[in-house]
Amino acid sequence: ALDIQNVRKDFGDERVLKDVSISIDSGQFLILVGPSGCGKSTLMNAIAGLEPVTSGNISIDGEDVTWRTPAERDIAMVFQSYALYPSMTVRQNISFGLEMRKVPKAEREAAVERVADLLQIFPLLERKPAQLSGGQRQRVAMGRALAREPKVYLFDEPLSNLDAKLRVDMRTEIKKLHQRLGTTIVYVTHDQVEAMTLADCIAVMRDGHILQLGSPEEVYNNPVDMFVAGFMGSPS
Ligand code: ATP
Ligand code: MG
Repeated sequence: ALDIQNVRKDFGDERVLKDVSISIDSGQFLILVGPSGCGKSTLMNAIAGLEPVTSGNISIDGEDVTWRTPAERDIAMVFQSYALYPSMTVRQNISFGLEMRKVPKAEREAAVERVADLLQIFPLLERKPAQLSGGQRQRVAMGRALAREPKVYLFDEPLSNLDAKLRVDMRTEIKKLHQRLGTTIVYVTHDQVEAMTLADCIAVMRDGHILQLGSPEEVYNNPVDMFVAGFMGSPS
């Protein structure tokens, strides 16, 4: 399970996360939506441990991880600025996280093959990030996360740079992967179709608050207010 309790985050005088509480069971696919600047990436960074929270608590499977480093939390992430290691090939980028965790070579190679196949990046494996397009880099970043099997995946708009066809293919693959692995996923998107097809639950955020947390059906059919209705609800 992932438990976020009363998380606040200030940047200087600005309170970007105001009092965020979200609790989801293990294996749930949580989609986070909301307008640009509402605090989605800030919340993802807090869950990942990339930014310390101002107050509040985060726990994963009952363990309080609030003050742990990203490496000490069992998570894998793909963020908006999907930084790859520039001096490493695609293959090394994907396998590096496994190497750090002392996964044996044969298993690492098998994992690289598996994600390369999934993401259609076989021909790119020996290239360096600078030799890739934006969408290819995004797929490699995705591959690097998917090579691992952590407790929680954090994806911040992981498909935003892909063309329409690849987005749909990837969405289908992510859904299948989630059904197969049953890993908890927190996923930020601006794409309503992505939200409705992938989510077990949707959190609608505005101005540092969670306005509504519910199943796609609940959020779509019974929005709590006009804002949620306008953002996610059925057209009326
Ligand atoms: P988008 O959909 O555009 O990615 P978002 O919901 O992810 O938006 P955040 O990146 O979480 O938004 O930003 C929330 C607010 O916090 C914004 O007003 C942003 O300017 C501010 N912010 C984010 N990071 C910092 C930082 N390191 N220092 C100061 N302010 C920040
Ligand atoms: Mg963001």
